[in-house]
Amino acid sequence: MSDTAEMLDAALAVQANAHAPYSGFRVGAAVRTTSGAIYAGCNVENASFPEGICAEAAAIGAMVAAGDREIAEVLTVADGDDLTTCCGGCRQRIREFATAVTLVHAAGPDGVRRTFTIDELLPESFGPENLS
Ligand SMILES: [Zn+2]
Repeated sequence: MSDTAEMLDAALAVQANAHAPYSGFRVGAAVRTTSGAIYAGCNVENASFPEGICAEAAAIGAMVAAGDREIAEVLTVADGDDLTTCCGGCRQRIREFATAVTLVHAAGPDGVRRTFTIDELLPESFGPENLS
């Protein structure tokens, strides 16, 4: 099983638990770190809409809580035929823990539809090194 297949399985498993009563748009995400560990998260909406969080943010939170820090790959899965990529805020969240070669996969239930580098999704970005 490839890393991407494991990530897709992890993302699909948590997508089923997404709390999306308002949008009905369930999202799952999986982060694989350079240590090889996989962390998953789903979107968690809130009646106070701005308080909801994205699946990627939830997965990154799980990664950080486990003491892991360096993202090798991220996979986001959503239903439907459209290509669903990370929102702008999550691109920045990924960037915080990315390497120069971090990959971001946009997937549907059928598998990965397109793969980007974080630099493609967030060119000329601001990151931790700008503050050092
Ligand atoms: Zn997001």
